Amino acid sequence: MTTPYYVLIVDDDQMMRLLSRQAMMASGFEVAEAEDGLQALDSIKQRKPDLVLLDVTMPNLDGFAVCRELSKNEDTQRIPVIMLTGLEDAQSISSAYEAGATDFIIKPINWHILIQRVQQVLRASEASSALRTSQARLEHAQRIAHLGNWEWDTDSDIIHGSDEACRIFGIEPGLKLTLSLVEAAIPTEDYARVTNGIRQLVKYGVSLFLEHQIRRPNGDIRIAQQQAEIFLKKGNRVRRIVGTIRDITTERQTEEHIRRLAFYDSLTGLPNRRMFHERLATALALANRKGAQVAILFLDLDRFKRINDTLGHAVGDAFLLETATRLKALVRRRDVVGSSGNERDEDLIARLGGDEFTIMFSDFRNTLNLAKVAQRILNIIKKPVTIDGHEIFSSVSIGIALFPGDGTDLDTLLKNADTAMFHAKSSGRGRYQYYSNEMNASSLAKLALETELRQAIDRNEFVLHFQPKLDMISNQIVSVEALVRWQHPQRGLVYPGEFIALAEETGMIMELGRIVIEQACLQFSHWRESGIELASIAVNLSPVQFRRSDLVEQIAAILEQTSVSPGNLELEITEGAVMHSEETAIELMRRLKALGIRLTMDDFGIGYSSLSFLTRFPIDHLKIDRSFVSDLPQNQEKAAVVRAIIAMAHSLNLTTIAEGVETREQALFLHSTGCDQFQGFLFSRAVPAPSLARLIELTNTQTVLKPRYASEI
Ligand code: C2E
Ligand code: CA
Ligand code: CA
Repeated sequence: MTTPYYVLIVDDDQMMRLLSRQAMMASGFEVAEAEDGLQALDSIKQRKPDLVLLDVTMPNLDGFAVCRELSKNEDTQRIPVIMLTGLEDAQSISSAYEAGATDFIIKPINWHILIQRVQQVLRASEASSALRTSQARLEHAQRIAHLGNWEWDTDSDIIHGSDEACRIFGIEPGLKLTLSLVEAAIPTEDYARVTNGIRQLVKYGVSLFLEHQIRRPNGDIRIAQQQAEIFLKKGNRVRRIVGTIRDITTERQTEEHIRRLAFYDSLTGLPNRRMFHERLATALALANRKGAQVAILFLDLDRFKRINDTLGHAVGDAFLLETATRLKALVRRRDVVGSSGNERDEDLIARLGGDEFTIMFSDFRNTLNLAKVAQRILNIIKKPVTIDGHEIFSSVSIGIALFPGDGTDLDTLLKNADTAMFHAKSSGRGRYQYYSNEMNASSLAKLALETELRQAIDRNEFVLHFQPKLDMISNQIVSVEALVRWQHPQRGLVYPGEFIALAEETGMIMELGRIVIEQACLQFSHWRESGIELASIAVNLSPVQFRRSDLVEQIAAILEQTSVSPGNLELEITEGAVMHSEETAIELMRRLKALGIRLTMDDFGIGYSSLSFLTRFPIDHLKIDRSFVSDLPQNQEKAAVVRAIIAMAHSLNLTTIAEGVETREQALFLHSTGCDQFQGFLFSRAVPAPSLARLIELTNTQTVLKPRYASEI
């Protein structure tokens, strides 16, 4: 049994200490903890650890300072130190080496990597102490650690390398390693760090620990770990530097592989949700300190499920991959938002799972540019792509949330970006949407309403009220318009203004519309059975229903079941219903007409209507919109329009009806224009079925010449 290695974990984050301790102990290490730099130095004084795991940012003496302290002291100089550095800060890595760290690990920490690194460093450290102890044990040590060694005579600039050292540099064993050869092998990005390390070694005599790349003469890139000591001659003139070199390429590759599995999405190679959260947290902390903004774009492909379902998962995956590639190509252009963050470009993008992607911009300056990026993303995803011979069209909906305006913590920010995305989807897809505060309230309310509305349909909580339509001359009720109300268990009577739009949006209007027609027809036949004779009953038809192909069959079936003759049913449709596709609309209207059903153009005057528009549709009645009636007769212009509409309608053989008639003056004016019918609060609001019977009785006893209205009784 060998004694376990003794490791000191220094971190001010209790959670990190706990997790590190668990990982280390599980691998057979003995562990001690310190909360800050001072405690760490104390602990080291009491008992010298075999290795220190050192966090960079800590209160009371940070990691760099601890490192410097350790390297000052002869006794602690050679304790290997692994520094835990944040991702955002490439600078801190070189600072760590300068301060005397042996190695570093980037947070977020993967525990497999941590253990591997610790073992590596301990092995190397053992080897280097073996080097120090005796030349005789050197070979043995090299065998353990797969090390090469070298000796640099600074006077001659010749480096004597072992076979292994030569091999690592990619030259024939036995050939002389010259300084210029070594220099040429170190890529520019590592050069300053290496020379700096050597300078420290020469100047202060501290041991050198370095990791750098080597470009071999054949172009291969290797990663090497170097450790070196200096032997001074009298008068402090540099004589010899002796070091070990280790090729750690495979280890680093394995680590990178493990890291990728844990933090990257295997399909697209993009950072995964976990990585994204880490990065976002870092970016937020940084932005907070600098008073900068961070933007999150939350992307969700539109109708991706359909691609997957109809073309199969392989095509679906290929499409996701293509999407990732497009996003990367677009976002890589650094200048897009004037971002000055030092993240790798492609890491700004993440795949959260399924067809959800996020893009993060930190430290950007211009929100307008952000909109441009969003627009570019929309455009690029809209371009069709051919996969496996299928031409695929898609689009993406984007929600944008900004830190700190739309949320100061990660969860709120993500949730709000998601909410904004949801709004982008529900307002037509293929668009971007900034988050706004009202969204949460409104989308929550909408969601609740949607659930309730579904239940209401299941439980049939709808009732119809009926508003009389009166003949202008006789003042008799000739027809009624059925208007739906929701008998809400808690809120009481809810008016259609609150739920029709949502029912249309969600498609629930199909079912609701059917219920209304059925109830209206049932009511009509009840009235007929109880002796109340009306020319017709009018039902409003949503434009959405109007696009339904089996509408005619559905209505015919209801008429049949309720034994109402088609001539007694009047459907009120709006211009919106026919705008969608004129030909299909006309065709559908013809088929309804062929059954004998009568059609009313509702809300006339507010839409696109030109007078010639009307001539194309087989309608029977024209209902003048409430907005024209409300200003009558004072508003001269509207009065003229109403006159013209009525005259024109008559020339087309349409009967006219005015809605929203609230005053006697309005009724009298309409009477003077020759309008055929009217409807409005002046006579009655929409009332429940039993009240209508009484209204009819009432009008029957009124004289035609001197009209009196229910509201006046
Ligand atoms: P609409 O088709 O224009 O129906 C007339 C609306 O005007 C009704 O509101 C009615 O109560 C109101 N109204 C009637 N007389 C007056 C008046 O003198 N002054 C004023 N200010 N308002 C008057 P309601 O019942 O709230 O219905 C609103 C809209 O909801 C309807 O407008 C219609 O578009 C829709 N709607 C109602 N029931 C149904 C239905 O069963 N199916 C469908 N698809 N839509 C419906
Ligand atoms: Ca109507
Ligand atoms: Ca209307």
